[in-house]
Amino acid sequence: MFRNETKEVRIGNVVIGGKHPVAIQSMTNTKTEDVEATVEQILRLEAAGCEIVRCTVPTIEAAEALKEIKKRIHIPLVADIHFDYKMAIAAIENGADKIRINPGNIGSKERVKAVVDKAREYNVPIRVGVNSGSLEKPLLEKYGGVTAEGIVESALDKVRMIEELGYDKLVVSIKSSDVMMCIKAHELLAPQCPYPLHVGITESGTVYSGNIKSSVGLGIMLHKGIGNTIRVSLTGDPVEEIRSAKLILKTLGLRTGGIEVVSCPTCGRTRINLIELANQVEQMVQEFPLDIKVAVMGCVVNGPGEAREADIGIAGGIGEGLLIKKGEIVRKVKEEELLETLRQELINWNK
Ligand code: SF4
Repeated sequence: MFRNETKEVRIGNVVIGGKHPVAIQSMTNTKTEDVEATVEQILRLEAAGCEIVRCTVPTIEAAEALKEIKKRIHIPLVADIHFDYKMAIAAIENGADKIRINPGNIGSKERVKAVVDKAREYNVPIRVGVNSGSLEKPLLEKYGGVTAEGIVESALDKVRMIEELGYDKLVVSIKSSDVMMCIKAHELLAPQCPYPLHVGITESGTVYSGNIKSSVGLGIMLHKGIGNTIRVSLTGDPVEEIRSAKLILKTLGLRTGGIEVVSCPTCGRTRINLIELANQVEQMVQEFPLDIKVAVMGCVVNGPGEAREADIGIAGGIGEGLLIKKGEIVRKVKEEELLETLRQELINWNK
């Protein structure tokens, strides 16, 4: 797949841009000042596959907490700053691997310069973030409201401001909850921006609607080669964001690895509780670092044929199911034992 070439930017122990894989990010929803809760959540995110994590830094206590949090996690830590440039400086001094600011809400050029100088001193990249909700009045007037063109112009203005201060360790993000506007803005921005882009659909909603909007938006952008890091924003447990991000990348062929579960939609032939079983299988397989396909099919008519495509599968019968491996029926298993049987097969997969 074509990837838009950008500069490389190192964030802690992860490099983004260039030919590097698209990195998966999330953001904690704990109080950053609460080190225990934040570390616990970041470790769960790491275990799920998160590669870069962002914490909000609204207070000096939160900035100071970064130091302790960093000691106990293993992925780069990004500080999210709004309004107060002193928080950005404190976050960098306390070990943030990147900071995310909107120079538009940091205040005067002197304040932006103070942040840039500190970033340069510590060699910390800056993510320049622009939101459709915070577009400057002149741009709203120029374009007659919030538009993709206005978002892009705002972002490029901010980038230029930092470049003029002599700093180019930059990542850029532009956000809009309007999916089509967001896509258009990225299409306009990508050819004009040499820096890696962090992409996502902001305020996309609950797990259900957020997943759909993010999959459509990120799917189209990533398929066009746009995006070096992604976040799936969901109103829910951030771990869900990671699961969704991984599946989006995998579906686009930008990631390999992990068990893929395919399951049939069920129909009048289904005689086992396949919906519950498929959901249980999807949860269960997450603990296995295998790169295989598991099929969970509802019946013995089409099931075995379709399960043949998979490495291992189940085809439901009446109160029982067939266990199928590489297209061969292995044995019959009672319905209540199907999940555990599959689990045991996965445990022994490489033995
Ligand atoms: S695999 Fe069987 S149960 Fe599932 S949709 Fe196809 S025919 Fe129906």
